Amino acid sequence: MAISVFDIFKVGIGPSSSHTVGPMRAAGMFVGALAQVDPSALTRVKVELFGSLGATGHGHGSEPAVMLGLEGAAPETVDTDRLPVRAREIAELRELVLATRPARPIRFDPAHDLVLHRNRRLTGRTNAMTFTAFSREPRGELVLLQRTYRSIGGGFVLADGDEGVRVVPDPTPVPFPFRSAADLLTLSHDHRLAIPRLSWNNEQALGRGTRDDLLHLWRVMDACIAAGCATSGVLPGGLHVRRRAQRLADDLAARDAAGTAPDPLAAIDWLMVWALAVNEQNAAGGRVVTAPTNGAAGIVPAVLKYVTRYVRDDDSTVVDFLLTAGAVGAIYQQTASISGAEVGCQGEVGVACSMAAAALCQVLGGTPAQVLNAAEIGLEHHLGLTCDPVGGLVQIPCIERNAVAAVQAVTAARLALGGDGVQAVSLDQVIRTMMQTGADMSVKYKETARGGLAVNIVEC
Ligand code: SF4
Repeated sequence: MAISVFDIFKVGIGPSSSHTVGPMRAAGMFVGALAQVDPSALTRVKVELFGSLGATGHGHGSEPAVMLGLEGAAPETVDTDRLPVRAREIAELRELVLATRPARPIRFDPAHDLVLHRNRRLTGRTNAMTFTAFSREPRGELVLLQRTYRSIGGGFVLADGDEGVRVVPDPTPVPFPFRSAADLLTLSHDHRLAIPRLSWNNEQALGRGTRDDLLHLWRVMDACIAAGCATSGVLPGGLHVRRRAQRLADDLAARDAAGTAPDPLAAIDWLMVWALAVNEQNAAGGRVVTAPTNGAAGIVPAVLKYVTRYVRDDDSTVVDFLLTAGAVGAIYQQTASISGAEVGCQGEVGVACSMAAAALCQVLGGTPAQVLNAAEIGLEHHLGLTCDPVGGLVQIPCIERNAVAAVQAVTAARLALGGDGVQAVSLDQVIRTMMQTGADMSVKYKETARGGLAVNIVEC
């Protein structure tokens, strides 16, 4: 059983993998399940969001994601400009076109049929969504179908009955199955294969994508960086957060062009700008690649951009980088959590930093032990990091936090490269620590906007 690199990196939409991508997918799954009922009997659909989805779904774009998902939109292909326009139309018309076969216009008033339970959680499920389809009978409404789904981060969705499963495993046999960092290190040692080579062998068995598909992911990441560096203005949501990437990129480009006073830290400045650019695009609901989540989507692309600008710019390097980051991400996805709603921001920004650090260490020539050491350092210094988005928006502290974590990823890779890979703390141990810390963390620090910065910053 294995997780593909294409499960970790997915083209999607901002601002949140768990609150936007996951709900859109869940809505699509529910529409698929409606094939079991007589479509002509269907008169109404109701959607309820619980836990962190209910608490911060409004700021995270969950409502338009659900509505467009019911209409058949997919995170990979939805027109990000059209999405908010169509969501407004649905609200005004109080009707959507359910993507059943055949498609069916149906009454849907978001004010009544899309309920965000700000203080309710379903037992055992952090980010739950319940979809109910009704028919109208002479004596009232009858439930035709009800399904509950859980968004577990990174756009992954589990159906009801999958509780206790961290991810839906792919049963396809792979030549080098691994769940932990210890497994990965042993396989690498025994077969004398670098981590990206092991990972690539597994990918070929899984058949989820080609080398070109990996390069396409990088092109989408790079386009997101370029778009963020070319866009100014204020981010949506009411916090009035001004975009910074464009101005900073212009300043840096001017300094580079002048070449008068070379700055030894210019590469670090660029690294931060690239991370800001991605996360500003994400906050604006733009096209991004989950890496492994949307909230933490800036770190891996920024570090890979740093590689292509300052280390080596060729396809093999890009592929090795993504395969290594994906292999580390798969360990987290199989044995831990990448959801801020489950374990706080350590599970999002901390994990992304860990993945980017490992990947950078790999393409800088690190041994497998050094690569996993880099991953460990990348997470260790994010332990305990809470998720406290101001106003429930993926803006403060998320955008800046990505820039800082991208720098930490470079630091972690270089620290690991300076060592021999022998670790006082293993990656598996630090992952266990993250999970224990997340379990002890008050729910107010887990993407509910009820603690930390979220209650100390006045929204205006
Ligand atoms: S604080 Fe971290 S985990 Fe929470 S929404 Fe922001 S990036 Fe995601």
